[in-house]
Amino acid sequence: MPTTRSEQALLEHYVKKILAAPVYELAVRTPLQAATGLSETLGNRILLKREDLQPTFSFKIRGAYNKLVQLTAEQRARGVITASAGNHAQGVALAARELGISASIVMPLTTPQLKVLGVRNRGAEAVLHGESFPFALAYALELARQTGREFVSPFDDPDVIAGQGTVAMEILRQHPGRLDAIFVPVGGGGLIAGIAAYVKYLRPEVRIVGVESQHSACLQAALAVGERVSLASVGTFADGVAVAQIGAYGFDICRFCVDEVITVTDDQLCAAIRDIYDDTRSITEPSGALAVAGIKQYVAHTGARGETLVAIDSGANINFDSLRHVAERAGAEAI
Ligand SMILES: *Cc1c(COP(=O)(O)O)cnc(C)c1O
Repeated sequence: MPTTRSEQALLEHYVKKILAAPVYELAVRTPLQAATGLSETLGNRILLKREDLQPTFSFKIRGAYNKLVQLTAEQRARGVITASAGNHAQGVALAARELGISASIVMPLTTPQLKVLGVRNRGAEAVLHGESFPFALAYALELARQTGREFVSPFDDPDVIAGQGTVAMEILRQHPGRLDAIFVPVGGGGLIAGIAAYVKYLRPEVRIVGVESQHSACLQAALAVGERVSLASVGTFADGVAVAQIGAYGFDICRFCVDEVITVTDDQLCAAIRDIYDDTRSITEPSGALAVAGIKQYVAHTGARGETLVAIDSGANINFDSLRHVAERAGAEAI
């Protein structure tokens, strides 16, 4: 929790940026929807923040637009470049088209075809390079140096973090009543940093719980030793969060604003995709189901009852063909 004056000042700085972020020129205010089946099974009130309903089917459009809209005329003219496992890429592509900026996007070779097409269909250039995000990132930074295009980080940028923080602004307005915890999926930490900054400034009693894939738990690793560490390898089933190192700007906030981090397995993600489907009749991508998987584990471990818990349902970009695998693994997961 913010204790020092400089921590409080940092949060205030972000709250101001969040309140001023013009994301609604492109993003939509998404519903905060009761998950009735999950609520009944878990004995707690579970609310889903439906970021899968954004124009690009994930919240990334918020941060991408807030970053691009603040670029100078000169930066806009040189164009932008980014590296992304997919959802940030689609956000940047759409925001760039909206603002008339040329965009080039480096994506790992493992990126689902659907996300590659999502970029190309929005008029951006997709460059496929590297086995996973860290390799794509290194290549994009190199290209940025060579071409003079502005690099747009998927998470390690104050304007991106502020854009993602608008999710929290909506949640607190949509739900002014009792709120015990918000569960947030974590990749590079932009989303959780924006949410945590806003919530801890205004309602510090609300717990912020990060949820990571067991195969890319870079925030948990960083909090354990008190500094950012780089994971030797990352698993890519939850491709939206396959990041080896938590962002520097995000970690500055997370180190005093995140109450707890939970890690979940791929099978738990598959089961959570099914749970969300049962309650909403919509399909989430693996990263999008992290928060629900985290809530289930939290309730199982703590025995919490009667609490109001929010899960960020962060994205829906999944290849239709991989649903067979998801359905099989969901069946194998008991809880
Ligand atoms: C990017 C992403 C995340 C994680 O966001 P970070 O800001 O990288 O922590 C979670 N879910 C989905 C669907 C994403 O695309």
